[in-house]
Amino acid sequence: MKLPICELCASSGTLCSGCSAKLADGRLTALDVKISNLLYGMKDKYNLGDADFTKAIDLGRVVLVLTKGDVGKLIGREGKVVAEISQEVGKKVRIAEMSPDVRKTIADIIMPAKLLGINEVFAMTGKLYKVRLPSSELSQIPMDLGSLGNALSSLLDAKVNIVFE
Ligand SMILES: [Zn+2]
Repeated sequence: MKLPICELCASSGTLCSGCSAKLADGRLTALDVKISNLLYGMKDKYNLGDADFTKAIDLGRVVLVLTKGDVGKLIGREGKVVAEISQEVGKKVRIAEMSPDVRKTIADIIMPAKLLGINEVFAMTGKLYKVRLPSSELSQIPMDLGSLGNALSSLLDAKVNIVFE
């Protein structure tokens, strides 16, 4: 099982000095730790031995759970795994694949709305991404636009401008 914290921490519920340092400098969040502990505890029950949990992003109403592995593993049969995560964090949970192709990850996140494209813009203030969405599908985006903007900024590691066309 691949988790953002080490196996010892996932099983004990306490953090070693290495994982504590990651939490302190922001490479890891309290939400990452919480979901790691939860998934580790569910490992045998739901056969999650080869599951991958990369990181979680809190989007307000929704928590985005990113995996570099099989999305289906973290959803679970009949959605049982995602339902338990959702209950634990007290919010809706959306599982998306964190692909090396960031466009694919973004397309996953905004589903069922379609992604028209992403343009890199070089502004005075630094690099900026223009993420283009169809205005006709505004109501289909599964989260509010402020939260979506934060999630996209965190994924792209740059400022994001969402534009509707
Ligand atoms: Zn650790």
